[in-house]
Amino acid sequence: MKNLMFLILPLLLLMSSCEDGIALFSIEDDKAMGAQVAAEIANDPSFVILPESSNAAAYAYLNNMKNQILNGGEVKYANEFVWQLSIIDDDATLNAFATPGGYIYVYTGLIKYLDDASSLAGVMGHEIGHADGRHSSKQMQKQYGVVTLLQIVTGGEPGALAQLAANLLSLSFSRSDETDADNRSVQYLCPTDFEADGAAKFFEKIEAEGNPSPPQFLSTHPNPSNRIENLHEKGAAVSCGTELADPMINGMTYDQFKSLF
Ligand SMILES: [Zn+2]
Repeated sequence: MKNLMFLILPLLLLMSSCEDGIALFSIEDDKAMGAQVAAEIANDPSFVILPESSNAAAYAYLNNMKNQILNGGEVKYANEFVWQLSIIDDDATLNAFATPGGYIYVYTGLIKYLDDASSLAGVMGHEIGHADGRHSSKQMQKQYGVVTLLQIVTGGEPGALAQLAANLLSLSFSRSDETDADNRSVQYLCPTDFEADGAAKFFEKIEAEGNPSPPQFLSTHPNPSNRIENLHEKGAAVSCGTELADPMINGMTYDQFKSLF
């Protein structure tokens, strides 16, 4: 017990002095957790990942989009995180998500639902924002508490990292994290050819259609009523180009990209 307190006390002090609330998790921890989640997804038959070898053009399009976002100079961990992209073959699911450390997953259902490249780039920017803002790390610190996390960090509890990874998939973000990810999406897209507030178009389409059952993206992402407005306001505030809805990527329009699936 005496030894444990030696470890805990300095960490508590470190936490209270850490302005963004992340003291226990390093960038390397984020990457390790992300790799663990990615491994679990790869082994879970309920996730059907389209292989890159037989979907080269689709992956080239999405990776080009991702690289435009990462290369804009606004993503803090653009060079540190993995930023590995996977397409999940599931037309019934309107969703995308990213793990800590930057493993990004996009469902074919979302790709087919959206109308232009800026809408998808907006959602991708939002998910990159969750990873880049290290929102999961903060949430887990709240969920598990210092002592449990300490055991994981110091390797005292076998399998704890795997358990964390499994729970990451069911983690929901706070409203402030969602707003932060929305704002980051606008900020990231600002220097690109995409409409900076492209993420708003996804929510606008859902609103316009009056979808009776909220898609997964919304049920796992608490949706403040002024979210669309916030995205537009943020786009106007940073005064970046919000004109090009559907810039060509690798010589393809968004419709041509969709026809690959
Ligand atoms: Zn979100």
